[in-house]
This record gives sequence, C-alpha cells and structure tokens, in this order.
Amino acid sequence: MDKFELQKLRDLPIEGVAERLGMHVVRHKCLCPFHDDHHASLSFSVRRNSYRCFVCGASGGPIDLVMKYLRKDFREACRWLADENNIIVSSFRIQDSGVQESKPFDASRYERFFERPWLNGEARKFLFEERKLDPRVVRWCRLTSWKDKQGVAWLQTPYYDREGRLIGVQNRNLVKGALPRFRFPTGSQCSIYNLPVLNLLRPGEALFITEGCSDCWAMLSAGHKAIAIPSATLLSQKDRELLETLNLKLEPQFQMYPDNDVPGERLFLQLREVLPSLVRHQLPAGCKDYSEFYVGKVKG
Ligand SMILES: [Zn+2]
Repeated sequence: MDKFELQKLRDLPIEGVAERLGMHVVRHKCLCPFHDDHHASLSFSVRRNSYRCFVCGASGGPIDLVMKYLRKDFREACRWLADENNIIVSSFRIQDSGVQESKPFDASRYERFFERPWLNGEARKFLFEERKLDPRVVRWCRLTSWKDKQGVAWLQTPYYDREGRLIGVQNRNLVKGALPRFRFPTGSQCSIYNLPVLNLLRPGEALFITEGCSDCWAMLSAGHKAIAIPSATLLSQKDRELLETLNLKLEPQFQMYPDNDVPGERLFLQLREVLPSLVRHQLPAGCKDYSEFYVGKVKG
C-alpha cells in the first residue's frame, strides 16, 4: 500500500467511518465506546477529521478509530476500511521505498475470464438461491467465479466503460464474514458500475442509481435499468462529473431507493446535489437495502 492509498483511508470522513462501525453520531458527538459513557463524551472534528473523548482521552483519526473499536492491528484496520469503502489498495505489504508507482490496469490479463463466464457452486448459491437474481442479468453482467489456492471461492465482477472496454475487476469473497471482502487487481477502476446499460437507455427513460453492484443486479433483475455507485461514504469528484455529464447528455429520469441507514441517506443527499431531479423511493421499514426488498418480493 503506497502513501497515496494510505492517505485515501485517512481522508475518509471520520463520522461516516464511525457510523459504519455502528456508532450513533448526533451533532458531531456520540457515546464513547471506550469507557462506560452516558453523556456523549466523544466528539468529532470535521476539520481535523479526528475524534476525541473528553473523559477517557481516546483520540485519533479514522484508522485509529477502527483499530481501537474492532481491536485490529494497523494492517487489518486499513484492510477493513478499504473493503468497507471499495477503496482499491494495491497491496498490504509494507513497501521498502514507501512510494510505489501505480501501475495501469492490464485488461488483457483478465478479459478472457469474462468471455466464457463460469459459475461454481458457491457463486450459483449466492447469485440464484440467496439473491434470487435473473440468470439473464448474470449473463449480461458477465459474472464469473474462481477459487484461489486456499480453496476460497470468489465472485468476479467486470467493470466496463460505456464503449465496453474492461477497466476494472472486483473480486468478492464468497465465504460469509471472511476478510478481505473485496479484492481488486492493480489499477482497477471500479467506480460507477454497469455503464454499458447507458447505450440501451431511451431519452427520458428511468435510470436507477444503487449503492454497490449487488443492489444493481437486483434492480436489473426487477426489470429496471440501473447503474451503481461504489460506496455511501465517498462520492468522488470524477463520479460527480460523470453523473453531471450523463444528466446533460441523456437526460435520464434518475431514481433511487436509498439504503435505510445514515450512510444511505447521506449518499442520496450527495447525489441530489449533482442531480437535482433525482426521484426518491422509500424502502419499507425493516428493509436495509434494495437487494433485501427484491428478495422479499420474489419470494412473496
Ligand atoms: Zn471515552
């Protein structure tokens, strides 16, 4: 992991990280999880991107918070943050030089995997039994799977640009609860997902925006056109610009079911700054995201 990648983790909004950890932040304060607290002694500084408890003295930035809260070492905490935020880190080995030149994504190494997608038992169980996805969607998305040397099954998701060029690959660990949850080959650009769908979009047609590719597959399986944004805590400048351009050129009717949590709500508000006409749909109470809603409907 190079120093730029490390800086990306340090720049993750501290309150967003706290919420991802399950802390309840109200007006830049919350109950301190590090001592028996009843008065919201822990406060966040947005400017310094840090936290401090005025009673027990616990303090630090996003990485320290994860280390302390989840009792992880530095490396594990970085990996957790990267996984949770879809941040691509090249390697967790400590580099001798500190600075590493970032290599571009080598599409030619991966393209053949998606020419004849193959789904192993774990992938079929995940996609069709648990997620109830439409096999046509799985084929359209060219999802494939593989097993590493340790026998761990991974689902492999290709990211294409609008012209259909492979620009990144996301590997998802199919073992529940295992870390790392995601892995990305060097240089992968896994930002906005399912861009080729834009070529099928008619003027003024509805286009759903989801958080993450699995909600996108559910949305597509429900018969909607959809793209996905990688994470609730981060909407990069590049993503903003791409969405603005889309809005101007294609004028789709953007729609969204925000996740039923604080980060989901924040993503919706961030997106609406870029896309003022974004239509909001509400998930039923107790439904955390669109995938869950979709599975309920299919079973229903
Ligand atoms: Zn404290």
